[in-house]
Amino acid sequence: MRAQRYTRTLGARVTSARSALLPLVITLGAAAAAGCGALFGPPPRPVILVTVDTLRADRVGLHGSALPTPSYDAFGREGAWASTAFAPFPRTTQAVGSILTGQHPLRHGGDGLGMRLPESATTLAERYKEGGYETAAFITNIVLQPGFGFEQGFDLFSNPEPRWVGDSAFSVTGEAVAWLRSRPKGGKPFFLWVHYLDPHWSYEPRPEFARRTDPSGAGAGDLAQRVESGAVPWGQMLFDAPSVLTPAELEQATRMYDAEVLQTDAAVGQLVATLKELGYWDDAVLAFASDHGESLGEHDYWFGHGEYLYDTTLHVPLMLRAAGQIPPGTRIDGVVRLEDLAPTVLALSGAPVPAGLDGVDLAPFLRRGGTVTSPRATAVHLTDHLLVRNENPRRPVAGREGRWWALRDGTLKLIRIPVGPGAWDEELYDLAADPGETVNLAGTGSADTERLRRLLQTLSTDLLKNAPTDDGVETHPDPDRLRSLGYAR
Ligand SMILES: [Zn+2]
Repeated sequence: MRAQRYTRTLGARVTSARSALLPLVITLGAAAAAGCGALFGPPPRPVILVTVDTLRADRVGLHGSALPTPSYDAFGREGAWASTAFAPFPRTTQAVGSILTGQHPLRHGGDGLGMRLPESATTLAERYKEGGYETAAFITNIVLQPGFGFEQGFDLFSNPEPRWVGDSAFSVTGEAVAWLRSRPKGGKPFFLWVHYLDPHWSYEPRPEFARRTDPSGAGAGDLAQRVESGAVPWGQMLFDAPSVLTPAELEQATRMYDAEVLQTDAAVGQLVATLKELGYWDDAVLAFASDHGESLGEHDYWFGHGEYLYDTTLHVPLMLRAAGQIPPGTRIDGVVRLEDLAPTVLALSGAPVPAGLDGVDLAPFLRRGGTVTSPRATAVHLTDHLLVRNENPRRPVAGREGRWWALRDGTLKLIRIPVGPGAWDEELYDLAADPGETVNLAGTGSADTERLRRLLQTLSTDLLKNAPTDDGVETHPDPDRLRSLGYAR
């Protein structure tokens, strides 16, 4: 069912770009790989990046979740984990671009869902390939499809269309495991990226995982089909779900999201087991993160991400393991950003960390062990501007000008919301006292509002000054098409 649904809704938009796309499984630059660059090191270590789409930090065991997630947790328990890591934008294109480049989306240029990651961006794969590594990616997500720029630097980039459906975690693991087993022992060092999609809407876990979060055995039911058919209007569900779903249905959907989290953890567990069996777990530099979270009813936003800037969609797990460098159980507090992942992974693997990245190298802090604090205190967040639904009651201004901006400064967060030409609503939250962002302090005369507003102005001006301005990189600028990007109607 799900495969048919995605194929139908996405067919029109994919067709127009098909002629320009690379084959779905591609081998890139084999000639360039031979004799290009010198190995980092010595000795070069394998580097493995595992990302899970739409995984909220509070659904991860290390973050205190009641859900058992031993496979995600292994990366942090045996290395370091960030208690408060954040996505720059709560969408895949923007956040994954930041993971791969160490740049804020306004710097790497993929700042709208479905946009292309420009050639000017330099990915981790390109850097490792230049260093003599073999590079491979096993991916699932339509906006990361070959031709969208995320394949830059990969010798092998596999993201076949049948895997753009939700139940793909075990397929992705299977292909990555087969690739690992096929590699000759003692071959070139490698950079491997595996990306999972299952916790993304629709929430339709396999029955054995559905039963783990819903002992009644009711399972996913037909909600996804009702949304797809229009019987439950998608936009109305996103912003006013209680008007179209019963409390029991809302609860059931949330349980199925949790089941998808467990399903993906099981698939990651198979990958971890293979890495251990083949001797890579102890030898490699390993990174684990999600690209963004998911709103599950907070702030009247249901089963989505990308249109608001609350921490339900910005707070992400981020973990790093590097045996012999990071003491097990290291915890890093403070403001950690997805942009920090790339420079830190490069440093841990002995590769040069390029100057000019937005992200900072956390390796010197992580090597201390115990509980350490991030050297950066601020993060700038933005909402998407391409996939914005008409039903959103809080986005009265269209396009780029309608984007929400937010500045996180320590435990304070200012959100600026355009409501008309030159007019903004503001929200200020003390995240230490109010992590749910329910008490708006902006109108209370707090001096912090003005201070954060000025700081956001400075930081955003700097980001925009350096941002690529060529909208030609927008692979799919048609909003009507973007509305159907893997999300149903
Ligand atoms: Zn995503």
